[in-house]
Amino acid sequence: MTNQKSTKIVATIGPATETEDTIRELILAGMNVARFNTKHGVPTWHHERIARVKKVAKELNVPIGILVDLQGPEIRISLPNETPIPVETHEVLLFASDPDHEEKTVIIPQEVIDAEEVGNVLLVDDGLGEFIIVAKEEHALITEVQNTCTIGHRKSLNTPGVVIAMPSLVAQDYEHLDAATNETVDFVGLSFVRNAQDIRILRDELEKRHLDLDVVAKIENQAALDNIDEIIQASDVVMVARGDLGVEVPYEQLTHWQKTIIQKCREHAKPVITATQMLKTMVDFPYPSRAEVSDVANAVYDGTDAVMLSEETTIGKYPVKAVATQTKICSYNEQFASPNEISTHDFDASRSVTYAAGMLLDKEHPDHNLQVDAVICLSQSGATAKQLSRFRKFAHINVFTDSIHTYHKLSIVYGVSAYVVELESDILSNSTELINKALELGVVESGQIVLILHGDVWKEAGATDSMKIITVP
Ligand code: PGA
Ligand code: MN
Repeated sequence: MTNQKSTKIVATIGPATETEDTIRELILAGMNVARFNTKHGVPTWHHERIARVKKVAKELNVPIGILVDLQGPEIRISLPNETPIPVETHEVLLFASDPDHEEKTVIIPQEVIDAEEVGNVLLVDDGLGEFIIVAKEEHALITEVQNTCTIGHRKSLNTPGVVIAMPSLVAQDYEHLDAATNETVDFVGLSFVRNAQDIRILRDELEKRHLDLDVVAKIENQAALDNIDEIIQASDVVMVARGDLGVEVPYEQLTHWQKTIIQKCREHAKPVITATQMLKTMVDFPYPSRAEVSDVANAVYDGTDAVMLSEETTIGKYPVKAVATQTKICSYNEQFASPNEISTHDFDASRSVTYAAGMLLDKEHPDHNLQVDAVICLSQSGATAKQLSRFRKFAHINVFTDSIHTYHKLSIVYGVSAYVVELESDILSNSTELINKALELGVVESGQIVLILHGDVWKEAGATDSMKIITVP
């Protein structure tokens, strides 16, 4: 079974989608990557469900990537006795770092108090509660409540425009990394990345554990936007994390940043995910709003690799329908989407070959007249496939790899269908064996024109230097 759409779907697994049957339905509806948000749940909860996804994916013979999303420098509040606090407009509310306070106090890290100033704004629970700081003490911020609401335990805290000196990883993140293996996890997400150093710290921890995972940098605040180029270069995948970004920076800037980040990611051949509230209405209703339909479609026109679902699939009433809805919107709009041209830098052999292939496949080029029916790319690390995909010139790129990890990691890349292939001969100058494999897998048919990208030797990473055009005998 293959999903005919090119845009990939990341669905977050939660109580609404944790059974094998529902996971199977999510995959059949078009999910490509299963996300596990470790800000909720302990490592064993996640790993039991990861095992379910892997089992079902194997039965269906499809590559489903596993993304474990870490808390990182994201800030969460806590409440004395975990009891929700109702507050009213203009009331005074204390945010303190030491837990020995009367009932009506919100506990926050001391780092927040150190960085904040009178006049700044604190936002709780994605902006549900807004608080203006009216006075500051050594271990407390005194705020005025801006809107009547109830504050819940462990909700998020946003500090628009203020960089907080939180550590790059928190204690639970280390536990989740300890529980990860190369066989069970493909991607690790880092929330609230501030700079390339945050990514390097995570990479060191991965290395210590011999984990070969692709790092997803979640762009959620102004600090990340200020350092966006170094972050994109340091990471493997990027997420436009609009849930937090939309409260950390003025919301009217969000669309501009989404387009800018997607464009930059394509220039660097880094896959990019557009995330959060894409089909929020479907948490409660079986249909999306018109604005949501447009949002998913516009992410495709922007050139995103993947679209994401969060509450829609963790706690929503219609999780499978939400995935099917994204599949429908993406598949329809892909045929009309021709995202901006991108400038490419740092030409080496493989970048030059993929650039030339992109030009040959460009149906909109005035001189275009080569009819290519299928593309096959031999890719050990997946880099060649990403370099070709970013031009968005061909709907389906078949990637042959001998690495099961690459097979899973390519689940996030636009237009890529990956296959784990074993070739008898290591030398790729003669394409007969390759074409026979492609015929066997059903990715080409006799008489079709196939464009093949490869190096000289099978299993050698980063060595793509050749392009071949063959008519299948
Ligand atoms: P989250 O990240 O769901 O982990 O908060 C995504 C976002 O903020 O958009
Ligand atoms: Mn977030």
